[in-house]
Amino acid sequence: MRLKCVDCGSRCSLEPFQVRCGCGGLLEVEQELAMVDAELLKRRFQERLSERMGVYASGVWRYKELIFPELPDEYIVTKYEGNTGMYAPEPIRETLGIRGLYFKAQSENPSGSFKDNGMTVAVSHGRSLGYSAFACTSTGNTSSSLAMYAAMGRSQAYVFVPNRKVSANKVLQTQAYGARVLSFDGTYDDGIRFLEKRGEELGLYVCNSVNPLRIEGQKSIIYEIAQTLGWSLPDWIIIPGGALSNVSALGKGLADLKSLGFIPSVPRIALIQAEGASPFHRMMASGSPVLTPAPRPDTLASALNIGNPPSWKKARSVMEMSSGVTCSVTDAEILAAKAQIDRSGIGCEPASAATLAGLQKLVAEKTITKDETAVCILTGNLLKDTDVLRGSFQDIPVDLSGSDWEALLR
Ligand SMILES: *Cc1c(COP(=O)(O)O)cnc(C)c1O
Ligand SMILES: [Zn+2]
Repeated sequence: MRLKCVDCGSRCSLEPFQVRCGCGGLLEVEQELAMVDAELLKRRFQERLSERMGVYASGVWRYKELIFPELPDEYIVTKYEGNTGMYAPEPIRETLGIRGLYFKAQSENPSGSFKDNGMTVAVSHGRSLGYSAFACTSTGNTSSSLAMYAAMGRSQAYVFVPNRKVSANKVLQTQAYGARVLSFDGTYDDGIRFLEKRGEELGLYVCNSVNPLRIEGQKSIIYEIAQTLGWSLPDWIIIPGGALSNVSALGKGLADLKSLGFIPSVPRIALIQAEGASPFHRMMASGSPVLTPAPRPDTLASALNIGNPPSWKKARSVMEMSSGVTCSVTDAEILAAKAQIDRSGIGCEPASAATLAGLQKLVAEKTITKDETAVCILTGNLLKDTDVLRGSFQDIPVDLSGSDWEALLR
């Protein structure tokens, strides 16, 4: 396994570790899939579904041969991430009127978001290189995930969190796992720049969204959906986009499955951004060759509040490979979709609900037709970003003494 620069094409090894190529481009892991016996792998992946302990019980490390075959098991820190539910709520599908609809609940991951799929791989890789200090910049979910794995691996996590527009729940969760939270006056994008410039010399293993090992772990989301459906996939994969690491990862996972012959063709990806933070959608819609950052990203979906998504070039290649489409949705549309997902009993944080809001829009404008099937990736848990729920529900009186209990039901 080695790393390849997506800009200049030069290759380097994983050790010593660097987040970016010398030219400034993003790196990606190059796997040697040609050497893999696909049928044997499929059988192994199936057998491992019955494991309850050990690394192969993880919904990420189950696919170790496609993710990080060389990593010795002793370095792996796992909380059996992945292994999440896939749901097909009839009422939502009927309202939309399409043939098939699934929600893949990455919100059920141990720290409450899909960031765990990638973070288990990054932290395990860092441990194998001897690091004991890990760092990231985060809108909240990356930091909770890193804090959790660092604690499991008896390492220290340092997380840089912007002092505005982050969810208090996420920051508290991060602190509770024992991470040092460093709050700074600036945006997510400023924090990324600082760590990329100084992280290595400070002896930190940098786990920002561009970390290529995180991308490898996040690929497993696609593998797991495909395996659940008997190695097939719906016509559309609907993904919310912030830093655009997830769409890059899922696209890479699709390309893997196609080249292994596990799936006959690549489904189409629909990437949904929040209107207040939609520089990638704007670029794609305008046909511009380069991304113009949004200087003041502004959406209540905190996990999508990113103005300068680092992985936009990878995301654009994924769009080309999958004949993908992009769209943007308003905060009001996000909240309405979230209410539907919450009331179905699945539940999610606002950023995840952008998927359903986008799907509704794409069905209405007939980009997605009624005879097609789709899976929405629900990225984060209902409990993550509860501030947005304040005001949606009646206040509950705290003192119930003296109540007429039966009257309460009326
Ligand atoms: C990180 C995150 C996103 C955005 O994913 P990117 O890889 O940054 O595009 C969406 N939803 C939730 C809940 C997240 O935590
Ligand atoms: Zn390069």
